[in-house]
Amino acid sequence: MTLYNYLDRYLFLPLGDLVYGSNVVEKLKEMRRYDCQSEAAIREVQNQKLRKLVEHCYRTVPYYSRLFDTHGIKPEQISEREDLQLLPVLTKQLIRDNYDDLFSTAVSPKRLRRSSTGGSTGMPLKFCTDASEWSSWKASTLRAWEWYGLHLGDKIFSLGGSSINKRKQLLSFKGLYDRVIMRNFKYSSADVTDEGMQRNYEALMRLRPQAVRGYGSSLYILARYIEKMGLPVCPIKVVLTTGEVLMPEYRRTLEEVFKAPVYDAYGAGDGGILSHECPKREGLHITEESCIIEITDREGNLLPMGKTGFVCATDLDNYVFPFLRYHVGDMAYIKEGECSCGRHTRLIGEVMGRAGRLMYNKQGVPISPTVLPMMFYPELNYHNAEYQKVYNKIDKFQIRQDKEGDICILLKLKDPSESHQQFEYIVDNYENHFVGSQVSLSFVDEIPCLPSGKEDYCISEYEYTTE
Ligand SMILES: [Zn+2]
Repeated sequence: MTLYNYLDRYLFLPLGDLVYGSNVVEKLKEMRRYDCQSEAAIREVQNQKLRKLVEHCYRTVPYYSRLFDTHGIKPEQISEREDLQLLPVLTKQLIRDNYDDLFSTAVSPKRLRRSSTGGSTGMPLKFCTDASEWSSWKASTLRAWEWYGLHLGDKIFSLGGSSINKRKQLLSFKGLYDRVIMRNFKYSSADVTDEGMQRNYEALMRLRPQAVRGYGSSLYILARYIEKMGLPVCPIKVVLTTGEVLMPEYRRTLEEVFKAPVYDAYGAGDGGILSHECPKREGLHITEESCIIEITDREGNLLPMGKTGFVCATDLDNYVFPFLRYHVGDMAYIKEGECSCGRHTRLIGEVMGRAGRLMYNKQGVPISPTVLPMMFYPELNYHNAEYQKVYNKIDKFQIRQDKEGDICILLKLKDPSESHQQFEYIVDNYENHFVGSQVSLSFVDEIPCLPSGKEDYCISEYEYTTE
């Protein structure tokens, strides 16, 4: 461990808690303690937290008070995970329709942290959390890093679609927290040209990080560039992927190029879900202390272990905007049996159905699915308030690439009478990335679901084959 590692752990992290009103240090200690506990002990803490949360929801959240009363459910009937089945599921649509009634009346608005997620359908969902929820999230991540021998204070090269135009953010508290405490240095994955890749490669070599982190597909694009150009890479301890399904070919290429093991994580900020692979890589360990995950059918009936269904999350730490049985929009299954590492949490076997497949342009350049929604903002600038207004006129979208590589974008507008011309820039944005493809817009009344019933915002039949 270096001096910075010590300073970060014993000085910067506690200081961050003090300034921010968070409790990451305390949560991390707690999580380390639960890390090696028995299944019964983990279940007990989960049940205790669930009972407290349900009581809180019934007493202070109008949406839940109404829901419980309408269904004739008493909060004391829900005392363990299995009892949650009494409640109907909470969908994204229900959240949009009942947004104001989902806030707890017992929480001061000052504590709120407003957040939003692109989610699986690519359309943002607004929700709220607080510093305590945020602390659990950070602590769970830090604990997983410890599994990999990564210490707080080690530098991380982070590649993500959402880090363009971040100058303003750099000076914010969050920006400082990221760089000084988490040491998470963010770079944009939006530019997939050789020049963009070269810039990212040079940034990587300048930073000389211990870890590389990002969407599997974004890192894969960078790795492929490094491989193609035969460039040397500085020593990397681990590669951390998150945010989408990690394809086996991505993992293989990343391990070859960065000469380090790849560990995947699956999370959903809106549901408070966080799960990480351990070094055994037999599945994703659920952070059971802070979230209950059920796998259900569309109606919310529990499915047996090993069966793929909808991920349904109950966030045990969010008291300001509580999520009880929330359908995240992803599909996954829970693995039977325990991991050979000795930890007793349940394991997510595989997450399916999210945008994880790459789209290619006709020159064979892969386009990350996480960049696709950004192209709905003029000039790809989603920080601009005027541009956000244009974007917000879109209710849903779907990007379809046919066998020939041409693209049709289906747009469903919130108000169908809006002028279609104002969305022409989308065609340009797509044509700039998908060089050589014909791009067209089609305004529709409804976006069709996949045969599985799941909504997906990018569907591609085009298979660019590399030799
Ligand atoms: Zn394990």
